[in-house]
Amino acid sequence: MERFSYHRAEGVDQAVAMQARSNTAQQGATVRFLAGGTTLVDLMKLNVEQPETLVDLRALGLEGIEVATDGALSIGASVKNAALAQNADVKSRYTMLSQALLSGASPQLRNKATTAGNLLQRTRCMYFRDTAMPCNKRVPGSGCAARTGMHRHLAILGTSEHCIASNPSDMNVALMALDAVVHIQGTQGKRAVPIDAFFRLPGDTPHVETVLVPGDLITHVTLPSPAPDAVSVYLKLRDRASYEFALTSAAVEIVMDGDKVAHARIALGGVGAKPWRAKRAEQALVGQLASKANFIAAAQAEMTQAQPLAQNRFKVELATRCLARALSQAQASSLSAKDAS
Ligand code: SF4
Repeated sequence: MERFSYHRAEGVDQAVAMQARSNTAQQGATVRFLAGGTTLVDLMKLNVEQPETLVDLRALGLEGIEVATDGALSIGASVKNAALAQNADVKSRYTMLSQALLSGASPQLRNKATTAGNLLQRTRCMYFRDTAMPCNKRVPGSGCAARTGMHRHLAILGTSEHCIASNPSDMNVALMALDAVVHIQGTQGKRAVPIDAFFRLPGDTPHVETVLVPGDLITHVTLPSPAPDAVSVYLKLRDRASYEFALTSAAVEIVMDGDKVAHARIALGGVGAKPWRAKRAEQALVGQLASKANFIAAAQAEMTQAQPLAQNRFKVELATRCLARALSQAQASSLSAKDAS
């Protein structure tokens, strides 16, 4: 690990001013924010990240979870993943978010990892984490070792010839399906960015993963109130039952109208270069009979845009089945809820 200087920010304005001195907010930034450190410190030990300065955010108090009068939920940037997963309002109204958080990492990591840190979680592509290998995300223009190397875990949606890394976060998939908004304070003031616009696809600049610029600090995330009678599910498929990243996952929220799907919000994990909002599946599903055949057809509609390589071709079928099963589970939850009311 390289030497670095450490500063503890006393307020948001001070933190913004300190990080604004960085060369970039992305890979290779000379000034980094430190919160839980569960990604950043790992990458510093591997010399993948070599910041000159760390700005500790733990004194900023961004740890509130609040319900607004319109029912929307505000989640502070420093709220721990464990606290968010166990929040009563999250468990009851945003069930998929609680399930997604609890499916990720380990209890120890969830006690440290924060909401903003999870949003910015880096890929688990093995070549990104190995400084001896070419990687366009780590060193722009150096090449992509994964395309001809090991890519079984990597993405099939939204990739480019320059990078096929998958976003590893479970939380981000649920936030994508829930239409989260990311609130940022920067040198030009405050702004709110819908989560789908927050993440960038790799294109020919895979080292640029978000719209953040130097000085930008995520302060909180908001979730709109769920639709009345909505039920949600997060289903994750992986190589082992715990402490493992998703091969594929599905976050679904549906509202049933009799036997038909009246409303659907769907996102996929483990398969996208960013948390993947499945708009084609949503469009194929809304207004249709809630049947296994229609669930599979909706998932297949999304997968028409998949671009798998040899080792991750299986993800097309796995993601199709994962989404169809998640929709079946959501339908069953909706029926149970109506029976109970
Ligand atoms: Fe690097 Fe992306 Fe290629 Fe992995 S897939 S080696 S992260 S450029």
